[in-house]
Amino acid sequence: MSPDRPDDDHPADDAFAQARRSMVREQLQARGLRHARVLEVMGRVPREHFVSGSRARSPWSVYADSAVPVGRGQTLSQPYMVARMTADLDPQPGSRILEIGTGTGYQTAVLAALAEEVWTVERDPVLAEGARERLEALGIENVHFRYGDGSLGWPEGAPFDGILVTAGAPRIPAPLVGQLAEDGRMVIPVGPPDLQELLLVEVRGGEVRSRVLTECRFVPLVGEAGWASPPA
Ligand code: SAH
Repeated sequence: MSPDRPDDDHPADDAFAQARRSMVREQLQARGLRHARVLEVMGRVPREHFVSGSRARSPWSVYADSAVPVGRGQTLSQPYMVARMTADLDPQPGSRILEIGTGTGYQTAVLAALAEEVWTVERDPVLAEGARERLEALGIENVHFRYGDGSLGWPEGAPFDGILVTAGAPRIPAPLVGQLAEDGRMVIPVGPPDLQELLLVEVRGGEVRSRVLTECRFVPLVGEAGWASPPA
């Protein structure tokens, strides 16, 4: 990946690189995020490739301290939330990570830079295809894509060292717990649609333990082990 190479869509690339550096300093480090590898990767992955429309041309919009609507009723998460969840998951070099809710693929690109291999599942076929094309264009090759219900995980790829869910679930989906490696960790928003708790879930000696990391607000995880249909 050579994120700083200018291309036709992003002529003012220096401005994006500058906005990216400011984001790392003012949104991540200023909030106390200290995970060196996560900070390095957040300073490298070009978020501008994951935003579309007029917003994509403005470094200020792309790196704003907020979530960005990406169409189809979905959002690209706030940079801090992406960094925070990644730091809590703490993917190690050599690890195998499952991500549920590919969306634009931005979080996927961050994970792919830290882990050995990433398996990512998206229930919206248009978003899934868009993400696959974007990551391919950036030369990211250690990602497996699937279009389908990620609340059921990806049994053929299990066990995973880490599972990151970027949509809000009504409860911890049992199939995902079953696909976590011993000593693995899962980061997942759980709770009602308007406000969830971000949980760190670990399995130790067959026992499932979870603790609350922070509050958050994600679009719903819709599926067999999630919400039955998109809540109104
Ligand atoms: N991480 C994304 C943002 C995710 S938004 C990014 O960086 O852009 C949440 C995504 O979860 C949406 O794209 C939504 O379609 C997807 N989603 C919701 N329920 C799902 C399910 N059961 N399986 C897979 N994806 C799901």
